Amino acid sequence: MAAVPSIRSRALVDERIRSEGDFVLYWMVATRRLAWNFALDRSIEIAQEVGKPLLILEPLRVGYRWASGRHHQMLIDGMAHHRAVLDSTHVGYFPYVEPTDGAGKGLLKALGERACAVVTDDSPVFFTPSLIRAAVAQLSCRMEAIDSCGLLPLRATDKGHSAAYHFRRFLHKTLPEHLGDTPAAEPLERATMPAFPGVADEIRATWPSAHETLPDGAFWDRDPTLGADGGEPGRARLDLSGLGIDHTVEPTEARGGRGAARRRLDAFLRDGLDRYGEERNDPDSDAASGLSPWLHYGHISAHEIFDAVARRERWSPQRISPPHDGRRKGWWGMSPSAESFIDELVTWRELGYGFCYHETDYAEYDTLPQWALETLETHSSDHRPHVYTLEEFASASTHDELWNAAQRQLVHQGVIHNYLRMLWGKKILEWTEHPRDAHRIMIELNNRYALDGRDPNSYSGISWVLGRFDRGWPEREIYGKVRTMTSASTRKKVALDRYLERWGEQAPLM
Ligand SMILES: Cc1cc2nc3c(=O)[nH]c(=O)nc-3n(C[C@H](O)[C@H](O)[C@H](O)COP(=O)(O)OP(=O)(O)OC[C@H]3O[C@@H](n4cnc5c(N)ncnc54)[C@H](O)[C@@H]3O)c2cc1C
Repeated sequence: MAAVPSIRSRALVDERIRSEGDFVLYWMVATRRLAWNFALDRSIEIAQEVGKPLLILEPLRVGYRWASGRHHQMLIDGMAHHRAVLDSTHVGYFPYVEPTDGAGKGLLKALGERACAVVTDDSPVFFTPSLIRAAVAQLSCRMEAIDSCGLLPLRATDKGHSAAYHFRRFLHKTLPEHLGDTPAAEPLERATMPAFPGVADEIRATWPSAHETLPDGAFWDRDPTLGADGGEPGRARLDLSGLGIDHTVEPTEARGGRGAARRRLDAFLRDGLDRYGEERNDPDSDAASGLSPWLHYGHISAHEIFDAVARRERWSPQRISPPHDGRRKGWWGMSPSAESFIDELVTWRELGYGFCYHETDYAEYDTLPQWALETLETHSSDHRPHVYTLEEFASASTHDELWNAAQRQLVHQGVIHNYLRMLWGKKILEWTEHPRDAHRIMIELNNRYALDGRDPNSYSGISWVLGRFDRGWPEREIYGKVRTMTSASTRKKVALDRYLERWGEQAPLM
């Protein structure tokens, strides 16, 4: 049986596999993990078919928007983890961090010229689609893009759905046939290709690998995302000050890589999942998984998380209970708390992926639903008692203690509690001259500071604030028919004492 369902694979360069090439190249650009990864499965499959070694190239550019010490540290943590894992296998690994903008140009082409085939990750957002398009123009060997984004293959979606309810209905009908297709949990265990002999000297002379350009033995010599006992990580961090990235957005306490992601998942299964349904919206509770950064960086897979929850629930697909009518509760046949979590992980997360896949202008304000554009425009001249600039928002300088606290958490920790994130967005809509400005400012702040930013769900969450995936509500000032939220009602709904104690005016911004 093929390692990857055909619906997840696209031939970008539809040439034959050059069995005379030196190795198979997996160009890892989005699905940055060594487990539960269809692209890795496919790379291993080709390498075994042609009996050639496998090389994984994991690059990191500096010249992209919002490149910062924060994002770089998370991604490089993951690279160190990959280096440590692959050290004891036959698979070659080449982590490349661009020292200056454009320095990496030509590396893929140089390796591609020697490759039997190139496999890469399919992803619908940020710079990955244009990166892949540019690569296609440079390569003459076979190239395939493989989709590991979610439980439902991107190409199984029929359109960008306008509401979670419609998408849930579509999922109920479509998803069951794909649930059995999962990537390998331990793909390296069964990989039997010849050993990779090493990257040619002339290539390394022009493009030295990351542990040469960012030398620090304490960091690279052992997996920094795992402690010696596989427990808490070491504190080693790389000095990234020589890279042309935004150093004002500093790394947070969080560590990238699979070790950190798996520890978070295990803690959630142990302590959070049973409380998730009841306490997810409570900022004083730690019942939410907190997994979105690692999902975003590709360090953990939605398949793996789903599998872990299903095992804990002793669930099998036979527990699904028809009719497939889009109801939020009772369809999966899991406990209410687990169903509520799976609804976020699958319905909401993949609603965003599907939308960005079909609507390539997903980041544009004008792609909001017509009713939302009209009502927001009608109310754009309403009097706004408070209007703030991007800088005032960024520095948590509004009149609202709760909003400022959420912004401080975002700047300091790179996350905002989910419920407060909705309020955070709604207030930006209320406190800007025009909803178009609110859209721009939300994208800027979210993608600059949030560890999970620059993701399909960054754009779906931000556009939800402005009416996407929602329905019309009773008409109000400024918001029109778009759903409102107030700090006062939030304070009534959820306990905030501990949250404000932690993130109130006294908390440092960085
Ligand atoms: C203004 C705004 C901006 C947002 N920006 C982002 C972003 O940049 N990146 C991002 O991943 N999410 C974003 N979201 C969605 C949501 O806030 C986060 O996914 C969630 O808070 C992550 O926390 P968690 O991992 O503890 O989620 P959990 O509640 O534990 O849920 C598990 C997973 O399900 C997915 N998920 C949960 N809630 C949502 C949701 N509402 N929409 C889509 N997927 C969801 C995430 O992948 C999450 O990790 C945004 C929402 C809003 C309102």
